[in-house]
Amino acid sequence: MKDCLFCRIIAGEIPAKKVYEDEHTLAFEDINPQAPTHVLVIPKKHIRGLKEASPEDADMIGLCHLAAAHVARERGIENGYRTVLNVGPGAGQSVFHLHLHLLGGRDLKWPPG
Ligand code: 5GP
Ligand code: ZN
Repeated sequence: MKDCLFCRIIAGEIPAKKVYEDEHTLAFEDINPQAPTHVLVIPKKHIRGLKEASPEDADMIGLCHLAAAHVARERGIENGYRTVLNVGPGAGQSVFHLHLHLLGGRDLKWPPG
């Protein structure tokens, strides 16, 4: 989708520090990290967000989680990390291409703010 920031990162039109890529997913460093590890994992297919996802997107969303687990393993942060999907502006979603935040490398409080 041409007006989508993350589609443009997938297309290579906007640079990003890639940390993992496979056929269906791409992971890259968040530009404004909130933890020592703050990686965004996105499906290569444009999905606006979780509430717009349909059953046919289930594999894609699952693969994003598995990609996050892979990156966490590589980073050695398996003692504790968090995957977060902000859904809608009220939860802080600011980019409307579904993305998973992988946060780790520090103590994480519960509940999140
Ligand atoms: P949201 O707030 O939608 O859950 O998360 C969007 C995330 O994208 C934010 O954490 C923000 O820092 C990150 N972000 C926004 N623009 C860019 C960009 O151009 N490059 C990268 N790597 N991350 C971005
Ligand atoms: Zn997109």
